[in-house]
Amino acid sequence: AKERGKNAYHKYSAHMQKAASERMYLQNELNRALVRNELLVYYQPQVNVTNKKLSGMEALVRWNHPKRGVIPPDQFITIAEETGLIVPIGEWVLRTACKQNREWQEMGYAPVRVAVNLSARQFLKKDFVQTVEGILRETGMQPEYLELEVTESTMIDVQRATQTLYDLKKLGVHIAIDDFGTGYSSLSYLKDFPLDRLKIDRSFIRDLKKSPGNRAIVATIISMAKNLDLHVIAEGVETSDELDFLQEQMCEEVQGFFFSHPLTKEDMESYLKEKFSK
Ligand code: C2E
Ligand code: CA
Ligand code: CA
Ligand code: CA
Repeated sequence: AKERGKNAYHKYSAHMQKAASERMYLQNELNRALVRNELLVYYQPQVNVTNKKLSGMEALVRWNHPKRGVIPPDQFITIAEETGLIVPIGEWVLRTACKQNREWQEMGYAPVRVAVNLSARQFLKKDFVQTVEGILRETGMQPEYLELEVTESTMIDVQRATQTLYDLKKLGVHIAIDDFGTGYSSLSYLKDFPLDRLKIDRSFIRDLKKSPGNRAIVATIISMAKNLDLHVIAEGVETSDELDFLQEQMCEEVQGFFFSHPLTKEDMESYLKEKFSK
């Protein structure tokens, strides 16, 4: 048994070493990803439940690594957050999404909202509001079409968060709470923060069919949002059953694989073309 234990330990430590060197590798590579122009922004459609029209889109970053191919954000956002690289990366995503939004408008497509994810590290930077203001000015993006997504955990320092949110609102941009219902914060902030939208987390949508608990939670979030005069969107909608339930509950908008996966810029452009030629 002792031998086995020793063996298992060696295996474990070999595994740890591999994970550590993989991390090292990605960290070094990520450092250069921005200058090498390896990052991409994908766009996932957000659809109005009533008329099934495109109501917005979420910008989602990808890393097109020369050797590894397209790497999803779960595999590098944590590293980016730990190293602080999320600040320039997040700024790049914001600028790219705004530029693209303007370009699509100039090409003649009807204006549509774009939502951009913020990490706590970005949001808490002293000059963050100025950065947003600068990007709006530089790209000519109309602020009413920009939505910034923050999570509850970003807002732990309520006083500071409230101030930053009010400063952002002054610029005219919209604010959404992402992954709503998964944080450990109290609900009282909902009446203090100047919010525009709640995004119901995918974990509540996933098992809607099987879970009466999830149905109760989703129905409650939707009615609470309405009572608080907030817009509401459900993320991770994959089936028509889920869509039916959300429709019955008068959820305004949905985002998920049922309508579309996140699309490359080129595919989003075809999607827009198709939508606007009908
Ligand atoms: P998120 O903000 O909650 O984004 C939604 C994620 O759910 C996306 O994963 C999207 O592809 C996925 N998704 C959408 N619909 C469905 C569905 O119907 N089923 C399933 N199974 N998944 C669905 P993605 O693009 O891999 O992004 C993962 C996370 O990475 C994001 O979660 C967000 O937290 C983070 N992220 C992505 N882009 C950025 C960024 O520019 N900045 C920051 N700070 N974080 C980002
Ligand atoms: Ca998001
Ligand atoms: Ca989310
Ligand atoms: Ca999420």
